[in-house]
Amino acid sequence: MEELQLGDLVQMRKSHPCGSDKWTVIRVGADIKIRCQGCNRIVMLDRMVFMKRLKRILAHSEVPVRGTNEDVTE
Ligand SMILES: [Zn+2]
Repeated sequence: MEELQLGDLVQMRKSHPCGSDKWTVIRVGADIKIRCQGCNRIVMLDRMVFMKRLKRILAHSEVPVRGTNEDVTE
């Protein structure tokens, strides 16, 4: 598992009701806060719950990915 960083773009296993499965990480700690890319709703998850629901990290904040699924490694 890659290390989660603030501002990362992540993909979750289940889509949000709004249809988006991509979220921006806005808080990293004991709890993880993510903001939906589709509707801007903010959800806070226990770190373990977040890791279970996480599909993958799409991009770190320094390297925004637009419309591709390429993995970004640093
Ligand atoms: Zn949403």
